[in-house]
Amino acid sequence: MKTTLDLSRAPAPAISSLAGLSLPRLRETLEEIGLAEKPAKMRASQLRRWLHHAGVQSFDEMTNISKEMRTELATRFTADRPHIAEHKVSVDGTQKWLVEFGPNVEGESVFIPNVGKAGALCVSSQVGCTLNCTFCHTGTQRLVRNLTAQEIVAQVLIARDGLGEWPADTEDRRLSNIVFMGMGEPLYNLDNVAEAIDTLSDGEGMAIGRRRITVSTAGVAPKIPELGARTSAMLAISLHAVRDDLRDEIVPINRKYDLQTLFEAIKAYPGLSNARRVTFEYVMLKGINDSLAEARDLVKLLSRIPAKVNLIPFNPWPGAIYECSDWDTIESFADVLNRAGYSSPIRTPRGRDIFAACGQLRSESVKLSAAEKRRQAEASSA
Ligand code: SAH
Repeated sequence: MKTTLDLSRAPAPAISSLAGLSLPRLRETLEEIGLAEKPAKMRASQLRRWLHHAGVQSFDEMTNISKEMRTELATRFTADRPHIAEHKVSVDGTQKWLVEFGPNVEGESVFIPNVGKAGALCVSSQVGCTLNCTFCHTGTQRLVRNLTAQEIVAQVLIARDGLGEWPADTEDRRLSNIVFMGMGEPLYNLDNVAEAIDTLSDGEGMAIGRRRITVSTAGVAPKIPELGARTSAMLAISLHAVRDDLRDEIVPINRKYDLQTLFEAIKAYPGLSNARRVTFEYVMLKGINDSLAEARDLVKLLSRIPAKVNLIPFNPWPGAIYECSDWDTIESFADVLNRAGYSSPIRTPRGRDIFAACGQLRSESVKLSAAEKRRQAEASSA
């Protein structure tokens, strides 16, 4: 079919990338350059297959699109990814990308391979964070800005490029799961997170099922049921304390939404069942939240919620005031939960040598002082 471009209708937008755009935005963008609505719809579907399923980075490869149209697209747009400022690979196979979304806007994503099983990409939803959890390195970086849906998806494109896993339905692909556990609070950027999840889960595109996408929140209670309704993603809660006084201190958003409010919201999450459990993350801080009495209180708190618990050994960072609980303490804590019927794996720290482990992400947008760099080098070689 021949499409007539009405180039007089809209001024040419600055050349920008189409890669990572959601289907509605692809459509809008094509309409803006003067394509009639129906072909724009079809063209957008074709484009998303090439961009997000095949992973191509040049319009020339889009062989079912006319040459005329490919040339037209290439004069206006690219299929580029944001610049990779740094890429590191850990001795344990974990990979970290520092992505430059714009001048002084850098965010990190981490690929965590699993032995014998598929792996997860941990993506950032914001650069920096507003929450100031006392044990989290990202919390020491002020919020730079929310990432757009396209920028969130671009992190997955970059990882798939790096892993060589195109097309998206490659058999035995290693990048099979997405966790929103990188920098930032996803529920303070829910519109973009929801749009990104639509793109990631599109079977004709990136093809990552919604049950393989987990969104973690420190507890923005009013947004929790909305997250479920809009995305059907799996829910994870960064709990870390079982009493309001302690949680107020280490996860300060608790002062706004206390444990009772948080748990009411969790119970209202649509679709919870034994097959779709909430994951509770609990960082093990020596002498702070790791007593057996707290383990027993945790069991009480979780009653009647289909839940599992991830115990996260605290990962150190320069200037942190906490230490990780002793291994025996973590195991005894896990025993209490296991005996009560909650699966509670102890998360093996991954990528500590490249500062990619939970809570260690903080971009160099805020430059480290020489002393901080030295401490970071010491901590990573420890
Ligand atoms: N803001 C969201 C998304 C970040 S997820 C949330 O809080 O859930 C990052 C996870 O790593 C959270 O569970 C966080 O509490 C945990 N974390 C932060 N700092 C850590 C550290 N130093 N060691 C281990 N886990 C940490």
